[in-house]
Amino acid sequence: MKNYYDIAIIGAGPAGLLAAGSAAMLGAKVVLIEKMEKPARKLRITGKGRCNITNMKSLEEYLQEISPEPRFLRQAFGSFFNQDIVDLLKTMGVDTKIERGQRVFPSSEKAWDVAEALIKWVKSLNVEIYNNSQIENIIVDEHIIKGVKVKNTKSGLVDTVNSKCVIIATGGKSYPATGSTGDGYKFAELAGHKIENLRPSLVGIETKTVYNKTVGLNLRNVSATLWIDGKKSTNEFGEVVFTEYGLDGPIILRLSRLIVDSLTNNKKVEISLDLKPALDHQKIEARIQRDIANSSKMNIATLLKELLPSQLIDTFIEILSIDPLKPVNQLNIKDKKNLINLLKDFRIEATNFRGWDEAIVTAGGVSIKEINPKTMESKILNNLYFAGEIIDVDGNTGGYNLQIAFSTGWLAGNSAAKRVLEVT
Ligand SMILES: Cc1cc2nc3c(=O)[nH]c(=O)nc-3n(C[C@H](O)[C@H](O)[C@H](O)COP(=O)(O)OP(=O)(O)OC[C@H]3O[C@@H](n4cnc5c(N)ncnc54)[C@H](O)[C@@H]3O)c2cc1C
Repeated sequence: MKNYYDIAIIGAGPAGLLAAGSAAMLGAKVVLIEKMEKPARKLRITGKGRCNITNMKSLEEYLQEISPEPRFLRQAFGSFFNQDIVDLLKTMGVDTKIERGQRVFPSSEKAWDVAEALIKWVKSLNVEIYNNSQIENIIVDEHIIKGVKVKNTKSGLVDTVNSKCVIIATGGKSYPATGSTGDGYKFAELAGHKIENLRPSLVGIETKTVYNKTVGLNLRNVSATLWIDGKKSTNEFGEVVFTEYGLDGPIILRLSRLIVDSLTNNKKVEISLDLKPALDHQKIEARIQRDIANSSKMNIATLLKELLPSQLIDTFIEILSIDPLKPVNQLNIKDKKNLINLLKDFRIEATNFRGWDEAIVTAGGVSIKEINPKTMESKILNNLYFAGEIIDVDGNTGGYNLQIAFSTGWLAGNSAAKRVLEVT
């Protein structure tokens, strides 16, 4: 490793790669330092290996998908947004396609292609990439950044890299096997930054009751409403998956941020699934009456087959405590009412959430109050920048988190390069 650079970037994930590329394009001498054997391990497994690169929704729609303070990202998105990453990838030979919900994927459906293209791009701009190189700390002398201390993970040798600027792009704490073990929070804290409460987000939810027969069931077109301390809260429509620990799937992930925060604050959280969102109580009742009129001798189990996926039938029978062999014409008004209520409000109490190994992103991180949104520079220490998931902003599923990494990475690299080139 050479010993002097304009900018040292810690972490070669999507944020670090974009920061490196944008800085090098302006002529800065950049080193990108990655502790794993290969850069962008997490990027390679995104979108179940297909990589949901970004989302083509408008800026205003984007901001609705981001927490806790979407406005912080306005300038970052303004400097590099969804069309920019699509265009950049195209120049590298990676074509993209748009799927349901405006989600963008590489046409090859290979996340690997996106990672390799970005690495090739930064190398073509003369960025030096060092793998197996773990940053141990940032070197600061009398409030001036001097560089970073790096340990070779193979030899154990420790070296100093001098640089005028440092960009911390170490990601969050989720999926630690990919290298994102939260090291950057320690560096930020040592520089004087506040770290907002870290917790797993976009994560599966453990429930009080797990109905064995439902494990593996995947329900599309259902609606889930959260009830927090008995009060109706937000609602999502889409797909839910029943697991051995509770609930997962796109709509549960989207609700998980609020569920995690509510559980952490000792609130009671219930998830109410509406299994027939297109039908109101009256329509379901009319349908049941019609089924009964058509075949009054059929039993309750057969009626349920008409209304539910087979994996849910035993669970319904258990919850309603009805005899499955009873003929439907013996169903009393109360039984019918209970059945309709259960179809419209299948309620399960959330008790916990899955851990860092399974969470898609980290909520919390370096406080945005201490980062300049126009540059991504620290407001506490000059020439220190942040990019990507380490910052206290996170998005929903749909390509928003990678776009946050690309946009903040681009802006941080660009700003750091301008700072350095202006000074020299
Ligand atoms: C399974 C899964 C699927 C996902 N799918 C999608 C998707 O399809 N679309 C989407 O938008 N988002 C997706 N995400 C989220 C997205 O991958 C992350 O938000 C994004 O990777 C964050 O980018 P980053 O560059 O900030 O951090 P990371 O990608 O975490 O990269 C940080 C890098 O820093 C390195 N590093 C850490 N500490 C050090 C150190 N001390 N020294 C040197 N290097 C260090 C790490 O090894 C790592 O390579 C997914 C996440 C997961 C876990």
